[in-house]
Amino acid sequence: KVFNFYPGPATLPQPVLETARTELLNYRDSGMSVMEMSHRSKPIENVIASAEANLKELLKIPEGYRVLFLQGGATSQFFMIPFNFLTKDQTANYVLTGSFAEKAYKEALKTGSAHTAASTKEEKFRSIPKLEDISVSDNAAYLHLTSNNTIYGTQWQQFPQLSIPVVADMSSDILSRPFDVSNFDLIYAGAQKNLGPAGVTVVIISEKLINISAQAKLPDMLKYSVHAEKDSMFNTPPTFPVYIVNLVLEWIKENGGLEKMAARNQEKADMVYQVIDQNPDFYQGHAISDRSLMNISFRLPNEDLEKEFVHSAEKVGLVGLKGHRSVGGIRASIYNAMPVEGCAALAAFMLAFRKTH
Ligand code: PLP
Repeated sequence: KVFNFYPGPATLPQPVLETARTELLNYRDSGMSVMEMSHRSKPIENVIASAEANLKELLKIPEGYRVLFLQGGATSQFFMIPFNFLTKDQTANYVLTGSFAEKAYKEALKTGSAHTAASTKEEKFRSIPKLEDISVSDNAAYLHLTSNNTIYGTQWQQFPQLSIPVVADMSSDILSRPFDVSNFDLIYAGAQKNLGPAGVTVVIISEKLINISAQAKLPDMLKYSVHAEKDSMFNTPPTFPVYIVNLVLEWIKENGGLEKMAARNQEKADMVYQVIDQNPDFYQGHAISDRSLMNISFRLPNEDLEKEFVHSAEKVGLVGLKGHRSVGGIRASIYNAMPVEGCAALAAFMLAFRKTH
């Protein structure tokens, strides 16, 4: 296998893939594949209940929250959030720390009034705003933030504690470190980076928010209350992706939970940042502070070298390193499932490439 540095869909833990392969044709003596099972059948009900319980255990989700498994990607949350929570006389507040935060903000503007509570756009999203620089508007419906900026490679180190609901897009760092769920009223994450395959979006929502109905005529499919009432079975849920998410959650538990994930992620990211920091004339990190442990974006002295870097890395089994077009250069996505050996191989490759160029 190659080391897969793509930003998502991303690498999955090898033992998860092996279990999925073993169970693919005959799921636990049922005589059929998980993919073929009715979502109303006992085994699938158990899979969904187990995924919810495992998520609650790993994230230490307190009482008063529901876990939902939805479709439509994190992108659908960009509009579902204002649809459900933004009333006419309120303002939605957004912290702009990257492209996905901006996309979420633009969707809110289509629904009602939206305010930029803080932004690092002027400095090309190279850091996260300081907590004291976040200025929330009057009549705020909620504050939305993006905990990890997949493209720019920055990550919040501390979260605001506010009296208004705080909503977080954690698509690219959920389960990578412990944090206090009670600081948030809604957390969402597309699965395809740290949770499993594309096709399911996890939503953790406080009961305080579930029954708010800001828009009178929302389709049922877009209401959190409907999905919660039906235990994520309002329509056919993405059964196979949830099954894989559950295997990933079990893998995290078997590997020491979020504390261990955080320590391992730090160790992995340090290997790459060390090479960047020790070769400032050759590698320039995009982030100047709040550096992400999940996505490391950096440039080389020119685009030809960057192309050659990506090409040569591929030849030795390091794939998916081309940066996003808005930053350019290189991006190494090193989510939970990236083995330590993958980061060691990348760091060694970077040093060797620097020597020969
Ligand atoms: N939010 C963040 C932070 C992301 O990284 C991404 C995708 O990369 C998205 C949202 C969009 O997710 P989806 O493709 O599931 O809609």
